[in-house]
Amino acid sequence: MDNDMLRKIIMDHYKFPHNKIADDEEYKNFKRLIGTNPSCGDEVELYVLFEDEIVKDIYFKGSGCSICCASISILTDEIKGLSKSEAINKIKNFESMISGKDYDENLFEDAIAFMDLSKFPARFKCAFISWDTLFKLIGEADE
Ligand code: ZN
Repeated sequence: MDNDMLRKIIMDHYKFPHNKIADDEEYKNFKRLIGTNPSCGDEVELYVLFEDEIVKDIYFKGSGCSICCASISILTDEIKGLSKSEAINKIKNFESMISGKDYDENLFEDAIAFMDLSKFPARFKCAFISWDTLFKLIGEADE
């Protein structure tokens, strides 16, 4: 895919986010965690429903830059239905991809739009904050 394609995927998710809920909505039985990236002003709030070992459902509230918002939207699409261990594997591969390390590209659908982000290390946190927040939430759910 060329850069224009990748940029279009990001802008589409930014303009028309998937699985975003209104500020006054609450979801019972969902685990909730907030993640922030003060250097950019990004703030994400994830709502995740675990059923047995599966990420059964996932929504978010939040605001931030286009990279941050697109990344959350893509995250929610690509994590729903995975087991916790599959989700953790995907988070780790995403982290590797955006930090310029080896990763399994077959794991990703729209998330592949961030394949060149490693060239912009200042934006790492923008893209990773939601994935990192989910990682922590899975850890908490296991306690
Ligand atoms: Zn940002």
